[in-house]
Amino acid sequence: MMNKFTSILLGATALVSTSAFAQGSAANTPEAKLPEPKLIVAISVDQFSTDIFNEYREDFTGGLKRLAGGIAFPNGYQSHGATETCPGHSTILTGSRPSRTGIVANGWFDPSRARTGKNRKPDYGIYCSEDVDVAGSNSSDYTVSPNLLKVPTLGDRMRAVNPASQVVAVSGKDRGAVMMGGHNTTLTMWWDGKAFRSYAASEAAVPKGAALVNSRARAAIDKPAKVKLPAQCASHSRAVGIGGDATVGTLPQRKAGDARAFRASGDFDSLTVDLALAAFGEKKLGRGAATDVLAISLSATDYVGHTYGTAGAETCTQMALLDATLGRMFAALDKSKVPYVAVLTADHGGHDLPERNSIQGLPAAERADIKLMPQGLGPVLAKAFDLPEPAVMGDAPFGDIYLSTKIPPAKRAAVLDAALKHYRTHPQVEVVFTKEEIAATPSPSGAPEDWSLIQRVRASFDPERSGDFFVALKRYVTPIPNTSFGYVATHGSPWGYDRRVPILFWWKGVSPYEQPNGIETADIMPTLASLIGLDVPKDEIDGRCVDLIAGTATNCK
Ligand SMILES: [Zn+2]
Repeated sequence: MMNKFTSILLGATALVSTSAFAQGSAANTPEAKLPEPKLIVAISVDQFSTDIFNEYREDFTGGLKRLAGGIAFPNGYQSHGATETCPGHSTILTGSRPSRTGIVANGWFDPSRARTGKNRKPDYGIYCSEDVDVAGSNSSDYTVSPNLLKVPTLGDRMRAVNPASQVVAVSGKDRGAVMMGGHNTTLTMWWDGKAFRSYAASEAAVPKGAALVNSRARAAIDKPAKVKLPAQCASHSRAVGIGGDATVGTLPQRKAGDARAFRASGDFDSLTVDLALAAFGEKKLGRGAATDVLAISLSATDYVGHTYGTAGAETCTQMALLDATLGRMFAALDKSKVPYVAVLTADHGGHDLPERNSIQGLPAAERADIKLMPQGLGPVLAKAFDLPEPAVMGDAPFGDIYLSTKIPPAKRAAVLDAALKHYRTHPQVEVVFTKEEIAATPSPSGAPEDWSLIQRVRASFDPERSGDFFVALKRYVTPIPNTSFGYVATHGSPWGYDRRVPILFWWKGVSPYEQPNGIETADIMPTLASLIGLDVPKDEIDGRCVDLIAGTATNCK
């Protein structure tokens, strides 16, 4: 005899098996078609964390609304530990983590290579996008180059298969353009502090529109700017003291001649997009025989975050301006009728300043102790161990720290022990890993949200370039000991707020879906490659192809 439960089950089965239901289902979810892009538009918004994406998502009406309504991975991951600009940009179009791209930080140290530097004497530092072979180059006065990037980008791979493919990279920072463009671009352009420029050798390829963009940039810097506070940002506008009389949190008005404030404004992104559109138009991207790449890195959100923090009226206003600028860019691309696929992500996340965190529900937030700076510790250890130069070198109170090569072999273990003890006994330090410990850790796999700290650090470890040890500060410790140099907040840690970034795909006719689980920014390149039929050997990259087709079809082989 059938009990009630079995009857319900059988009834349900009968319903599912009726042909009317099956047909209805097919009609309601037409099989999504693969896009056939002639142009890949890859956008990095510098310091666009998942946290600010989520906070402002409901306010977007322009380009960010379009992207958020496509294939959305709100919890993407720059999965590595050293969450800086150069490593982050190096993952987006290479399919690889910094452990493979070699871009372990914005700058690293080679203690065996002393150069004559402007800011450091001697200068052991190396900048991630410099040509170290140029005579007189140093970490602060360098010739821009992709030479230190150890792997090819998507554009490099496309041009190797078909040299007719054009690859254009435009950024507010040299490293943003270089790391997304790669070794063999048609055009690479970045803001050098005064103007957008390119590699000297390819000056002839600069679009004519660049001169107009640069004259507009000069005019924007020369004039005071009046920025209106968007209505939705009124609740974010509250002054927060950062020492002395200085405050952040209310929208500042830019003074004439302030080039630094210009970088931290929506005008900067808008002009970067103008330059990208000039290149798009003049180089006829997407209108040739082969598929092209337009890589755009927008830097203003990062400068806003560093200068004013991420939770005030400044970032709120920047989000509204960025959304509008991206909307304007998409309108121009749509008008061209070029079929394109857009992807947007960030090079890293970010964290608000401790002064505001501590009055907004996070009393544990604080600034790093200046005693953690390697510049302070190095001379102290040199004196204690009678060494000819500072015992340790590094840029910040965390991350990779390097031992001097002038330490006699007999003293090296003792100096390292003393340095490790200095960091390991400090109350703001979460953990210190030695180079040997990191090297012995296998390259991580599985869900990036669940990696241990050493796995995160391993993902940005390169035995040739990483330090002798790596310092991770406690969660919510901002590694800027004081605000006197103009930066109040930052990123760079292995914590979630710095690793989590949205990854958003869109094309005309896309069947949208949202996946809240983590993927990596290293997954973007093999995913884009699959859309254009480009073969990328799996053993050459860290990422995987992500299925962008919500139906049973797939772009991944
Ligand atoms: Zn930054």
